Amino acid sequence: MGYRLKKRRPVPGRWFFLCLALAVLWLGLSFGEREENGAGAAFGGAVFDGGAEQMDTVTLRRCETGREERLPLEEYVVGVVAAEMPASFEPEALKAQAVIARTYALAKLSSDSGEEGVLCDDPGHCQAFEDSEDLAASWGAAFEEKYRRITDAVSATEGMVLTYRGELARTYYHSTCGGETASAKEVWGEDIPYLRGVSCDWDRDAPRYRETVEIPLAEVIKVFGTASASVSAGAEGNAEVLPVVSGETESGRAAAVSCGGVSLSAADFRAALALNSTRFSWELDGETLRVTTFGFGHGVGLCQYGANGMAKEGKDFREILSHYYSGTELKKR
Ligand SMILES: [Zn+2]
Ligand SMILES: [Zn+2]
Repeated sequence: MGYRLKKRRPVPGRWFFLCLALAVLWLGLSFGEREENGAGAAFGGAVFDGGAEQMDTVTLRRCETGREERLPLEEYVVGVVAAEMPASFEPEALKAQAVIARTYALAKLSSDSGEEGVLCDDPGHCQAFEDSEDLAASWGAAFEEKYRRITDAVSATEGMVLTYRGELARTYYHSTCGGETASAKEVWGEDIPYLRGVSCDWDRDAPRYRETVEIPLAEVIKVFGTASASVSAGAEGNAEVLPVVSGETESGRAAAVSCGGVSLSAADFRAALALNSTRFSWELDGETLRVTTFGFGHGVGLCQYGANGMAKEGKDFREILSHYYSGTELKKR
């Protein structure tokens, strides 16, 4: 199928080049590897029997400009796969990503969550998206080859979606699970049968499989707010005001962190300190907390680096999908 390639316009002047350079820099920094999609975004029932899942075009709101555009669903999927997964990934991993990007979008549109039939390009809410113009600016000379890898994966899975008991599945995904994915229940408190924790031995080489950051203890304690006088007083050397992990989830992630009588969910703690994941441990070195995280993202659903590792071992996209979304069925719309 033909994906429209927008022509670049003639170049007006140096401001254009400056903006272009900034855009390229920004895209270069932020491209092709998101930590996670729709962190706990609300979904209603997404029944697979007509309605949004039969849509051939979608409305997309670009967050930066507020502009809305209609585009063919399959073209939207190309832009999501390109923005959400490195184009250098194995073809079977890219195909798995294409199926879940399509499914996620249709499930969101057919759910009753007040989106009014509009998807956006915020990866924290819907999914990231880059059009061919963005991609050309970012990929430069490699554009043709990378774009073909993506469009091949999308065409090979055209119209395919994941379903569970006749409903579109909510195909959350993330960058790197760090050894075991998390269930939707342990992360969002919602029991979704096909979003269980599964083992994943294929993401060891991921850039964020293991990462250590040093954070001043005072900064960590500040996260617990001024709600507790004993915390804000920060009595040095007093064990009572040192943060401790309280409880572990079924997949071995931190459940909560408490400090000086104040308790935070591990997800809030992670967000406040911009940690890669809630799978972490730490050691105290003087006034510095050395935090080691495993994985990157919320950990629910497909692990992208794991999917790529499975593909390298010769697994096809069907096997990859059924590993991360247990009990789901692949269907053609
Ligand atoms: Zn959105
Ligand atoms: Zn993994």
